[in-house]
Amino acid sequence: MQWLAHGFHGEMKYMATHGTRRARPAELVPGTVSVITARMDYLPRDTPLDDWQAVEFDRLTRPGEAIVSVYARGRDYHKVLRARLAKLAERIAEEVGPFGHRAFTDSAPVLEAELASRSGQGWRGKHTLVLDRNAGSMFFLGEIYVDMALPASEPVTAHCGSCSACIDVCPTKAIIAPYRLDARRCISYLTIEHGGPIPLELRPLMGNRIYGCDDCQLVCPWNKFAKKSALPDFDAREGLTGQGLASLFAWSEEDFLRFTQGSPIRRIGHERWLRNIAVALGNALRAGESGTAEALATRAAHPSELVREHVAWALAQRPARASAATPEQTAGSPYPAT
Ligand code: SF4
Ligand code: SF4
Repeated sequence: MQWLAHGFHGEMKYMATHGTRRARPAELVPGTVSVITARMDYLPRDTPLDDWQAVEFDRLTRPGEAIVSVYARGRDYHKVLRARLAKLAERIAEEVGPFGHRAFTDSAPVLEAELASRSGQGWRGKHTLVLDRNAGSMFFLGEIYVDMALPASEPVTAHCGSCSACIDVCPTKAIIAPYRLDARRCISYLTIEHGGPIPLELRPLMGNRIYGCDDCQLVCPWNKFAKKSALPDFDAREGLTGQGLASLFAWSEEDFLRFTQGSPIRRIGHERWLRNIAVALGNALRAGESGTAEALATRAAHPSELVREHVAWALAQRPARASAATPEQTAGSPYPAT
């Protein structure tokens, strides 16, 4: 409630509208007396586990490359996880008989991270996400509210210690204190949840991230132990990894809908997609990336005022004299050398 009172949720009004229903499961689903929590690893199956964090950090140093958050490179996790939770509930019913239940994954007013940490799925890191000693934080969360009393599992102890790597690495300083995130500064929020213009002062700090941001997780030492998904669903789709900003910026709305069919990216729509890429192209232009101004010029007269304004901002990032600096260097890179 304090976090909401500070306005840290930005435009995510749905976080405030449900009041205590969010914190009290029985107010959301009457009759709920226990919650089964679950998590599902999502690193794509071809992830090089030995150095996957370095591989991802490396992408940030290539200003012309478009970076989509790892979780969003494959199929929409909502569908995958909900189907698996339904299957789990069916299996339980085979054992204990019919019971009342409802499954959730990031789909209703449910305090997922808090339920997960109180039930022992991991502890809340200083970046506020849940992490586990054997799996890092690269997993999705899901819950089944049930009408039968189950023995409660215990929380695990926290292991952040004196580490503050996630706070230090955050490009926009969105983690304003340990365990406190100002979503309005977070690149994940800005590129996905936020509908209007991206604040000018944050644009140069976004580098080449066009959908979400993984930095606070990439730098976390516990993510050396992150696990690959057992499913093919989260494998990166063709076109969403290692792509040039200019080629994604050239997608028509039809292309966007086709390439993001069944992907979580689809929900932001083509206009926000172009807005996000325009910011990244502006940062690439400042870094001296060739072909960037030409790509931007193709959208200078786009029908959307939002897109036009971001394109104009991006074109104004052209340096007086082209330099070889990357967006990270331009913004003062806190990243570890890879
Ligand atoms: S996702 Fe990125 S911008 Fe958001 S808190 Fe983590 S490092 Fe900062
Ligand atoms: S980077 Fe450090 S402080 Fe942040 S969640 Fe990981 S262990 Fe905790």
